[in-house]
Amino acid sequence: MRLLVAWIAVGVVVALVALLDRAGVLPARYVLAPLLGLLILAIGRASLRSFRSGAAHIPDGPPRPLDLAQERVTYACGGCGAEVLLLVRGTEVGPRHCGERMTERREVPRGSVR
Ligand SMILES: [Zn+2]
Repeated sequence: MRLLVAWIAVGVVVALVALLDRAGVLPARYVLAPLLGLLILAIGRASLRSFRSGAAHIPDGPPRPLDLAQERVTYACGGCGAEVLLLVRGTEVGPRHCGERMTERREVPRGSVR
């Protein structure tokens, strides 16, 4: 919905600029050049933001060993079916296998809940 409103606003601005340019009041390049600059700036900032979120696999602290008596975390690969048991957690982001993010499954061992 928000994207639709943005596209409608862009359409209105372009139509207004075309009208002003056609009437000879304001050349279109004086309005479109700064808008193009803002678009390039927004694309650049979005690219840098995606780099930051792409680095979520980098640990932000020391690894934490899991207590297997309280919690058992496994990761399964949807591509090949491989399954791994997590012994030490480095980050909150799960590992990848076959080029895809593995599916996390948490199990509570019998007898650990009172
Ligand atoms: Zn796999």
